[in-house]
Amino acid sequence: MDKQVTKIGVLTSGGDSPGMNAAVRAVVRTGIYYGMEIFGIMRGYSGMIENDIVPMHSRSVANIIQRGGTILKTARCKEFFGYEGRKKAHSNLKKLGINGLVIVGGDGSFRGAHQFSEEFDIPCIGLPGTIDKDIAGTDFTIGFDTAVNTAVEAIDKIRDTADAHDRLFIIEVMGRDAGYIALHSGIATGAENILIPERKTDIEELISSLQEKEKRKKLVNLVVVAEGDNFGGSDEVAKVVKQRLPNVDTRVCVLGHIQRGGSPSCLDRVIASRMGYSAVECLMEGRFNVMVGILNNKMHFTPLEKAVKAKQKIGDEWMKIVKILAS
Ligand code: ADP
Repeated sequence: MDKQVTKIGVLTSGGDSPGMNAAVRAVVRTGIYYGMEIFGIMRGYSGMIENDIVPMHSRSVANIIQRGGTILKTARCKEFFGYEGRKKAHSNLKKLGINGLVIVGGDGSFRGAHQFSEEFDIPCIGLPGTIDKDIAGTDFTIGFDTAVNTAVEAIDKIRDTADAHDRLFIIEVMGRDAGYIALHSGIATGAENILIPERKTDIEELISSLQEKEKRKKLVNLVVVAEGDNFGGSDEVAKVVKQRLPNVDTRVCVLGHIQRGGSPSCLDRVIASRMGYSAVECLMEGRFNVMVGILNNKMHFTPLEKAVKAKQKIGDEWMKIVKILAS
């Protein structure tokens, strides 16, 4: 492909993550710097289909780098799964002369972008915007650092009340398919046990470790559970713990959506800025249909069809660290 991209559409799609605004800002300002026209597409692929597309100027993205959520809104769009929906989206882009897209989202959004670029020959660049950090080809995803720090802050608070009452807390953090938030927030808060989807939960091992702690009168314990843990999440784990350790004062706390919101961390703002800038450079240089990532502190480009969920192995050493440090 050697066509020149002159008008870029930028959208945020799928689950929101803190730092999406910083990425949009970087795309808009870099595009304008290079003399391109930039359009904001509202509510992910829905705005493309419904022609909810607005011109963006430098001032449109003023004062947003520090804001969570996304000024473009985001959505999951059923219609985009069907060819007719995508055709409609393409004809709306065509009317405006948009000849390049930047999509900030997760692996689902990249699958959609890949399909769309194959069918309509529109160059697409993906930026990994997800709190789960489960995308191949990048060490960082926009939003993970903020989300995990939000979890850490909340768990620290829970530890205070656990300590005051000598309680066992089972804390559920986000991560349907990936345990990075659980693993990192658990280690950072000194959790006694961490349950993640990447490893089969051995409930007997958990119970015996808690029984052993009960015996040595270690009564304040935190168990961090990823929502996608294969035992069934915090409620299921708590049921068994309450049955088997009836004398332990056990409480459950599900952190939920607070992990998605809030002002992005410095790291998320910086990686979003670098990735947004790089996305425009890719479109200028004809490096089409890739996801922009950062590996070993260098920009790294992965073909969109390969930028799928990366279920990475979390090695035994991680768990050994948890066990030793929380003894
Ligand atoms: P995320 O991008 O956070 O992984 P989703 O998996 O919900 O979120 O995907 C976001 C949107 O991307 C979907 O609602 C849909 O509009 C589009 N999408 C996902 N997969 C496909 C696909 N195979 N074909 C077309 N569009 C898709």
